[in-house]
Amino acid sequence: MKAAFYIEPGQIEIREVSLPPLEKGDWLIKVMASGVCATDAKTYLRGHPFIKPPAVLGHEVAGVVVAAPVGINNKDGPQEGDRVVVAPYIPCGRCYWCSNEQPTQCTALFATSIEPGGFAEYVRVPANTGGRALYRLPDDLDYAEASLTEPVACALHGIEASRIKAGQTVLVIGDGPMGILLARLAKVFGARVFLSGMLPHRLKIAAQGLDGIFDACHEEVDLRPYTCGRGADVVLIAVGVQEAISYGVRNVRRGGIVNFFAGLPKGTTFPLDLEQVHYGEVTFMGTFGFTPGQFARALEFIASRQIYLADLITAHYSLMETEQALKDTLACNGLKSLILPWGGEV
Ligand SMILES: [Zn+2]
Ligand SMILES: [Zn+2]
Repeated sequence: MKAAFYIEPGQIEIREVSLPPLEKGDWLIKVMASGVCATDAKTYLRGHPFIKPPAVLGHEVAGVVVAAPVGINNKDGPQEGDRVVVAPYIPCGRCYWCSNEQPTQCTALFATSIEPGGFAEYVRVPANTGGRALYRLPDDLDYAEASLTEPVACALHGIEASRIKAGQTVLVIGDGPMGILLARLAKVFGARVFLSGMLPHRLKIAAQGLDGIFDACHEEVDLRPYTCGRGADVVLIAVGVQEAISYGVRNVRRGGIVNFFAGLPKGTTFPLDLEQVHYGEVTFMGTFGFTPGQFARALEFIASRQIYLADLITAHYSLMETEQALKDTLACNGLKSLILPWGGEV
């Protein structure tokens, strides 16, 4: 099969390799759509502490089961021919963090990862997932939208952990795919939602269905006029830029919540006025990943059209064009890019 290998920062090579060898209990998935995530693009640009090259990037996969375990162990599980979306990892359920209802911190999370990675024609889903990484798709949901289940699940984790309630005012900082997904989900949860960004082509799409947009290049991001001078109940920060983070921290109300949602590399620091934390009782928190329950519900949100995604998918690429897809993601061209290893209609 073909796979797009990340060789070193700034270099992708398409290689012909053998299918991932299957062990007893493994699944093999033919990848029909694979989302390009900011993490993939940043890894391509400057490397990643946990992803050592050569490696195949991509973790947002939807496809068809082409090999499934037979017998009693997989009686109700996904079978050959099933259309599925793949959770890129599954918590073990046994470690300290799993036992304390924090499965996103599970120490064994990446022991269940797909192999070799989503930018390939096929991926192996290991037996130790017990089929829990595979979710069947309803007939009327295409692979392209289904491949967005993982980012929607991450957004859902961010929204739920930030305890967003109906009627609250939420400020999302960032007009990338994750910022827009967070904003749309916060609307589904009944909040009034404002979003701040810097790119007109993205703000135009983001504005659909939200309560207000700030073009941070041309206006001050200030929620006080909309909240009787208080500021936002919850601020979700979906970019890693210091200046943008400062808009967020400045706009939270006393007693509110700031969620550092975007991935931030080790060593990232930010000056905080601790008065805001102590007397102001502002909660600063972060969220990463998703729980299996959130993944399942993210798929429901998409399948039932409670969240609209079609306008976020702005480009399709072949596997051969993976490097271009990563470059376009880094350049903030469009919004969400998908790799379609088998091309055609999805
Ligand atoms: Zn992702
Ligand atoms: Zn665990």
